[in-house]
Amino acid sequence: MNDELVLMQAADRAAVEYVASVGTRRVFPDAEALRLLDGFDEALPQSGVDAVEVIAQLDRLGSPNTVVSNGPNYFGFVLGAALPVAAAADRLALAWDQCASSWDGSPVADTLERTAARWLLEILDLPRESSVGFGTSATACSLACLTAARRELLRRKGWDFDAQGLEGAPRVRIVVSQAIHITLKRTARVLGFGMDHVVFAPCDGEARVDPARMPALDDMTILCLQAGEVNTGEFDPFAEIIPAAKAAGAWVHVDGAFGLWARAGSDRGRTEGIELADSWTTDGHKWLNTPYDGAMAICRDGRVLADAMQSDAPYVPAVWDAQKNLTLEFSRRARGIAIWAALKGLGRDGVREMVDRHCRLARRIAEGAQAAGLEVLNRVVLNQVLVRAGDDQRTQAVTAYVQASGRAWFGPAVWEGRPAFRISVSSWRTGEAEADRLIALLEAALREVG
Ligand SMILES: *Cc1c(COP(=O)(O)O)cnc(C)c1O
Repeated sequence: MNDELVLMQAADRAAVEYVASVGTRRVFPDAEALRLLDGFDEALPQSGVDAVEVIAQLDRLGSPNTVVSNGPNYFGFVLGAALPVAAAADRLALAWDQCASSWDGSPVADTLERTAARWLLEILDLPRESSVGFGTSATACSLACLTAARRELLRRKGWDFDAQGLEGAPRVRIVVSQAIHITLKRTARVLGFGMDHVVFAPCDGEARVDPARMPALDDMTILCLQAGEVNTGEFDPFAEIIPAAKAAGAWVHVDGAFGLWARAGSDRGRTEGIELADSWTTDGHKWLNTPYDGAMAICRDGRVLADAMQSDAPYVPAVWDAQKNLTLEFSRRARGIAIWAALKGLGRDGVREMVDRHCRLARRIAEGAQAAGLEVLNRVVLNQVLVRAGDDQRTQAVTAYVQASGRAWFGPAVWEGRPAFRISVSSWRTGEAEADRLIALLEAALREVG
C-alpha cells in the first residue's frame, strides 16, 4: 500500500478510536492533559517531518485536549454533536476536495446542494421559492442577508448601491430585538450601521420582542427578530409583528441559528408567522448536528441575495444562483453535502424525533433541577434551561463544580444582570441516561457547595 493510504488509515484509526471514546472521556481536559499542549510549542521545522509522525503527534497531544462537544454529556452553548452519517459524508467529500463554487467546479456538489436546499425549505416549511446559500456560519450568512436587505431597500428608492456605495445614500435604519445575539450586533457594526444608531426593540420578561413597544418601522428599515433566544430558547411573536412590519415596507430578517429547527419538531406553534419574513439564517452545526462548520442564508427573493453577492467573471461564468453568488465565499467547500447527508440519514421523522427528544430532556432536566432545589428561570419552551443556585456565589460554585468534574459541561450565563448557568440539550447522542446523570451531578454539586 502506498504512503498516502497508510497515512489516511492511521488518521482514520485515530478518528475511530476518538469517536468510540466520546461517552467516557472527560468532557473538558484536566490540568495534566493541558500540559501536553506544551508539546506543540516547537520551532517551524526546516525540513518536513514524516507525515505519519505528524498525525501521531496530533492524536497524542491533541485528542486529550479536545472539548468533547461531540459526546453525550456536553450541555454548553448550543453546539450539537456530529451525526455519524453527516461526519462520514464530510469525510468522503474531503477526499473529493471539490471547489464547490458552481456546477463547473463540481457537478456533484452543485447537485447535492440544490437537493439539500430544497429539502431544507420543506422541513423548515419556508417559502419554497427561496434561495439557500450554504456558508460557514450563521454569522456569515446573516452578513450576506443583511447586505442584500440594505442594497434592496436602497434599490427600491432608486439608489444604485453597487455604483454609489453609502456616501450620500438615503439612510437605512436597523431595528433589532433587545435580546438579539451578539453576532447580529457585530454584523450591524461591520456593515457600518453604527452601534449608536442601532434601534433596540424592547423585550418582555421571556426575552421576546414586545409588539406593543415596537419602534416605528418604515420602508427604509431592516428589522431583525429571532427564533431561539440563547438564554430562554424563546421566539419573538412573529405572527403579530411581521405582517405589520411588511405592511410598513420593512425588510424582516430572522436569526434562527438553532431555534429555526423547532419548525421540524412537533411543537412549532411558537414559530408561526416566521415564514412571512424576507430572509432567515440557521446553522447546520448546531441543532441539526452536522460537523463544523456549515450554515444557511435563506432569502425569499433569491435574486436579491444573488445580486448582492454576485461574483461572476469572464473566467468563471455560472448561473445566477450558483453557490458563489449566494454566500461570502468564492472558493468554498460544499458545506451542503453534510446537510444533505443528515437530512437523508434522519428523514423528516428522525429530525422530528431528535428535536422533540431534546425539548423533552430539557424539561426533564428542569424538573430535576427544581426538585434538587435549584431555581429554573425560564419556561423551557425549547431545549434551553436557565438556572440559578440561590445567591451569585453559589451559582458560580455549582457551575465550577460541574465544569471541574469532567463528567459534563455547561457554561455560565448572565440573566437580568446576575449570574446564572445555561443547560442546552442539542447532541443527538444525549438521552435520558445522560439527562439523569446531569441531574445527579447537580445534586452532588449542591451537597458540595452547601
Ligand atoms: C450561535 C448563534 C449565532 C451565531 O451562529 P454561528 O454559526 O456561530 O455564527 C447567532 N444567533 C444565535 C441565536 C446563536 O445561537
